[in-house]
Amino acid sequence: MQPAIRFGVDLGGTKTEIVALAPDGRELLRRRVVTPREDYRATLDALTRLVTDAERELGGSGSVGLGTPGSISRATGLLRGSNSVCLNGQPIKRDLERRLGREIRITNDANCFALSEAIDGAGHDAAVVFGAILGTGVGAGIVVEGRVLDGPNAIAGEWGHNPLPWPKDDERPGAACFCGRDGCIETWLAGPGIARDHAHATGESISAEEIVSRALLGDPSCNATLERYEERLARALAHVINLLDPDVIVFGGGLSNIERLYTNIPQKWGAWVFSDRVDTRLARNVHGDSSGVRGAAWLWGRT
Ligand SMILES: [Zn+2]
Repeated sequence: MQPAIRFGVDLGGTKTEIVALAPDGRELLRRRVVTPREDYRATLDALTRLVTDAERELGGSGSVGLGTPGSISRATGLLRGSNSVCLNGQPIKRDLERRLGREIRITNDANCFALSEAIDGAGHDAAVVFGAILGTGVGAGIVVEGRVLDGPNAIAGEWGHNPLPWPKDDERPGAACFCGRDGCIETWLAGPGIARDHAHATGESISAEEIVSRALLGDPSCNATLERYEERLARALAHVINLLDPDVIVFGGGLSNIERLYTNIPQKWGAWVFSDRVDTRLARNVHGDSSGVRGAAWLWGRT
């Protein structure tokens, strides 16, 4: 029996949001609070209050899905890899289940993004969805037939920490990544990577946003930087297509707003995809910043 109300909670570094969805995806309620700064117990209090207040307001209870940065270790049940470091090493799932008196489902924000787009977004008609977030970092999630692919290590989709494929001589070893390795896809394809690459090529230190807007106005050096970015993104996605062959790849994050990516990348990726033609669809997200909460709510399935 599926719940009538699905609550999705997106725990972010600065704000925490809750949404209540009806089975058809209609939003019944949405609230946002400031995330307590580096205080685990206060964070648990805030999450609990968001759910209980929403239930009181709607006059009914429901299932709860939580999207967090980082992932729950299958071996220990503890959260790890979160940039809100007070959460790392904490049994957040178990603690929240005890407080709310029910099982909750939890996954990382990239998986929530992919699930939201797979259920009723850009990939609603696709069997296999690869959702990639291109922002201050690079994350991704994989959804197969409406379910998040998780894996025994709970890292399916952690494509941002694979190396940039088919590297050129001047792309090796690449910049140091926070994960301890060099030349990760994230170091090339996140916003700071564009800025670094542009500075390296031109000596000019400007933000990714400025590079993109100047490229669109016809600035030759910014356009060259954006072309290098598109070529690297095409290579990185060709790797994904060769391995997973998703029906659709959906972009989220700030860089997903660059309209020309959706024409230029499919023109380039065929050079590396191991096929005589590439029918993979590349799409912009439908739900934008709402993907985190909506995907968390859909962790309990649609029907
Ligand atoms: Zn890395």
